[in-house]
Amino acid sequence: MQRDFTDLTDLPDPTDNLMRILLIEDEADLLSGLARALREEGYAVDTAADGEEGLYKAQSAEYDAVVLDVMLPRMDGWEVLRSLRQSRKTPVLMLTARDAARDRVRGLDTGADDYLVKPFDLGELFARLRALIRRSAGQTRNVIEIGEVVVDTAARSVFVSGISVALTAREYVLLEFLALHRGETVTRSTLYEHLFDEDDDSLSNLLDVHVSNLRKKLGHELIATRRGHGYCIE
Ligand code: CA
Repeated sequence: MQRDFTDLTDLPDPTDNLMRILLIEDEADLLSGLARALREEGYAVDTAADGEEGLYKAQSAEYDAVVLDVMLPRMDGWEVLRSLRQSRKTPVLMLTARDAARDRVRGLDTGADDYLVKPFDLGELFARLRALIRRSAGQTRNVIEIGEVVVDTAARSVFVSGISVALTAREYVLLEFLALHRGETVTRSTLYEHLFDEDDDSLSNLLDVHVSNLRKKLGHELIATRRGHGYCIE
């Protein structure tokens, strides 16, 4: 049985904690040089040599960032970016040969996250990529910090000054809802709609009890009462 191993470098890397980058560039020397340099920096790197292949790969896997050349065969970088943005928010660093203001505006309008003008310095590329990945990770973090109080919405756990605090399930969802709407006054009826089953309305004081318990556990100033309106986390 014959198997084709020519594409082996593009197989998913089993070490998933690596940052994974997709390089889309048709100049073979630049592509292989960049791929090698990024791997030496510790990134897992997949490559594509034309726009169609690049778009296909960018849509089929979770990349931490995509480095995308503008001038590409089969489908140019703008087209790749526009199609990719319809389904994914993967950070994209565009490579352009022209330092034209028109290109910068066009790229940002289309949803590029950053730019590098060829020829560029490798150190500059690494720095831009790190910044891009850091920024995008920050947007998807599952932790909400309110002063000393930290709500980890992935683990559904809460800490005050780094110490874990036990909450009931109802207390937790109430806190999370207010934290996600931080700065807004959330009305009592909204809270009832979102947090309680329809048959729960017999207990009119329930909400106040949960709020009171949260204040005891997390600090009295955390949740403000807006008289006649509802509650608010500033
Ligand atoms: Ca090119």
